Amino acid sequence: MMRKSVNLFAAIAMVLTPVCAHAAGVSEQQLRAHIEILASDEFAGRDPGTEGEAKTIEYIAADWAKAGLKPAAADGSWFEPVPLVRRSLGSSQLSFTQKGRKLKFADNEIVMIGRDQNYSKQRLSVMFAGHGVNADGKPVGDVSGKLVFMLLAEADFLSEEMKSAAARRDVLIDAGAEAVVLIADNEPGSWNSIRRRSALPRLELVSRDSRAAVQGAASAEYIVGLATAANRDWDKLMRNANKADFPGVDFEITADLEVSTRVERFNSHNVIGKIAGRKKGNGAVLYMGHWDHLGICRPESAEDRICNGAVDNASGLAVLSEVAKALRKKKHDRDIYFLATTAEESGLLGAYAYSEKPVFPLEDIVIALNVDTIAVAPRGAKVAIIGRGTTSLDPMIEKIAEKLGRKIERSDDANAFIRRQDGWALAQKGVPAVMVGGAFADIDLLQRFLEGDYHGPEDELTASTPLGGAAQDADLHIELGKFFANARKYRRDKTGS
Ligand SMILES: [Zn+2]
Repeated sequence: MMRKSVNLFAAIAMVLTPVCAHAAGVSEQQLRAHIEILASDEFAGRDPGTEGEAKTIEYIAADWAKAGLKPAAADGSWFEPVPLVRRSLGSSQLSFTQKGRKLKFADNEIVMIGRDQNYSKQRLSVMFAGHGVNADGKPVGDVSGKLVFMLLAEADFLSEEMKSAAARRDVLIDAGAEAVVLIADNEPGSWNSIRRRSALPRLELVSRDSRAAVQGAASAEYIVGLATAANRDWDKLMRNANKADFPGVDFEITADLEVSTRVERFNSHNVIGKIAGRKKGNGAVLYMGHWDHLGICRPESAEDRICNGAVDNASGLAVLSEVAKALRKKKHDRDIYFLATTAEESGLLGAYAYSEKPVFPLEDIVIALNVDTIAVAPRGAKVAIIGRGTTSLDPMIEKIAEKLGRKIERSDDANAFIRRQDGWALAQKGVPAVMVGGAFADIDLLQRFLEGDYHGPEDELTASTPLGGAAQDADLHIELGKFFANARKYRRDKTGS
């Protein structure tokens, strides 16, 4: 009875308002059906290289086949291999010798991970490199073959690019440092959070795997103890380290270092499908969204150990699926590709792998639309653009959104997230890549999610998961696809200006 009256109401609404996108559009129930499966415990948090990956990519391929997409990986299948290496913390032993005298420090104040399974070296020179680089971004001194301790903290004299400790560490690695250990800030919590993060397995693309033989982190107490044992005045060292011309200091002690690390190499996969366009050589529209999440993310003692990633990013995959179904119903001028990426959570790795080895030239992409963490806002949310101002597409996107009755968020606040999403990997190579939707139009609302359920076992599908905004965003993505795949409506400016 109830159900029937709802249908009747919908029918009347459609008659009265022929361009009512809501009535004809993607429903919350359609999205929920995908998320229910992808974020179920059976998929175990969609961790790359696990049974969870196998289930996830098979689900996506089967679903896209049902939607009418054709497989588009280089070998004609749905799956583009992404070679990854996963390193997990093993054990390490580090001892120092000063003028024949052995020095030993508490092992729980330092963590180290090797590049290879087993690492062992004796009599390494030990150096304190301050912030690692000088104002020109060059190594502070000769770090070649040494065990180098480097401050995590940034300094005023560092260039914008070198504010990141990872960037400074890379400079030292390029200069031949054997081992680089980051020194935690002196603030309470800094060391604990670094130690917790170091204990998690780390994924890297085999193609971008340029580590030192050993990398690690140590507490501030550890380095103070070491400096003191080496007869250095730590306060004076720190004062000097904050000067732009600090040359680094050799501690005149040697280290014997043994590190065992669990190293696994495996292929993960991006899933890729397409709707072939009517006209060849006209460019292509690319939709993308990451399929991976954090897998088993809590210790054995925890009641719920699985990070299911319902919002992040089963919701995005659900939207891609419904967009594919809708676009498949008509012919389009341009090819439309759908890319589900792996290992986004480990630093956009699947997207970077795709940017290194695309299945068609990246220059052909007229627009890349990334869909990530989309189930955050309710119906009626404004539309924001991550990447606003970085392409010439904003006015067209906004016009299409307004036609659907959406209001536009005109600030560029959402750009704060531009480096934290897969589109960034393609944008680095000049692809016009944006994220469009309501999830990041209200930054306070998004922040509440990020500080709450995000990246924890609580990111599960519940009755109150907001799917209204995501459904509206799905409708918007369908219209964006129709427009940008139409070679008469959208003539690409090939100069990119
Ligand atoms: Zn995430």
